Amino acid sequence: TFTRRPLIAGNWKMNMDHMQAIALVQKLAWTLDDADHDYRRVQVSVFPPFTDLRGVQTLVRGDKLDLDYGAQDLSAHDSGAHTGDVSGAFLQKLGCAQVLIGHSERRENHSEDDETVRSKIHAALRHELAPVLCIGEGLEVREAGEHVQHTLAQLQAALQGITAEELGELVVAYEPVWAIGTGKVAGPEDAQQMSAAIRAKLAELYSGGFADTIRVIYGGSVKSGNVAHILQGSDVDGALVGGASLDAEEFAKIARFE
Ligand code: PEP
Repeated sequence: TFTRRPLIAGNWKMNMDHMQAIALVQKLAWTLDDADHDYRRVQVSVFPPFTDLRGVQTLVRGDKLDLDYGAQDLSAHDSGAHTGDVSGAFLQKLGCAQVLIGHSERRENHSEDDETVRSKIHAALRHELAPVLCIGEGLEVREAGEHVQHTLAQLQAALQGITAEELGELVVAYEPVWAIGTGKVAGPEDAQQMSAAIRAKLAELYSGGFADTIRVIYGGSVKSGNVAHILQGSDVDGALVGGASLDAEEFAKIARFE
C-alpha cells in the first residue's frame, strides 16, 4: 500500500525511433488496459527521445490513453542561440507532463553539474513541467560509505533558492549509478533508507507537510521480477526504469508490481 500515488516511469534513453515509439506506446496502452487490474492507481509515464514526442502526443491524445510522457532533458534557456538544445516551452506545447533532469548519463556525458541541474529545474518550472530530479552516488562513493551525504548534497544543491510553492509536483529519483544498467540492484533496505533520508532532507529544507507530498522513486536495474521487492519501503513511491521499459509487456508488469 502506498501513501502517495505511485509513479512508474520509463526512461527509454537513446532507443526507439519515432515509428518504434508508436508501436511501443500502443502495445503498452493495450497491455495495461487489457490486464484485469486497476493500474490507474499508478501514474505510468514514458520518457522517449525528443524526436518521438510528437508522435507519442498524437497517439496519447487521439486515443485518450491514460499515460503521461515527458522528455529526458531540456535546455536551461527558453529560446535563442542554443544550437541543438530543446526548450521547455516546446515540451510544454507537446503536452509533456514531466521532464527528467540531471540523469547520471547527462551528468557524466555532458558534464552537467549541480548549477546546470538547478537552472534546468528553473526552466522546467517556468513551463509547468514537473521535474523528475535524478540524484545518486557512484560506486566509489558507496564503497566509502558516503552515499547518504553525497546524495543529499546533490539534492540540496539542485533545489537551492527554489521555494516549495514553485516546486509543485517535483519527483526525486534516487538512482545509485552503480545500479544503472548493471543488473546490480540496491536492496529494499537501501532504497528505503535513501528515500527516507531524501524525504527528511526535504522536510528540513521546506516542511514536513511538503516532504510528505513529494514522490521519491528508485531507479537502477528494476525489472518485473524485483519491483515489488524493491518498493517495499514506505518511503519508496515508485520506480524509474531504463532497460526494462523498452518491452511493453515487461513494463506493464512492472506498473502492476507483478
Ligand atoms: C535509468 O536509466 O534511469 C535506469 C534506471 O536504467 P536501468 O533500469 O536500465 O538500470
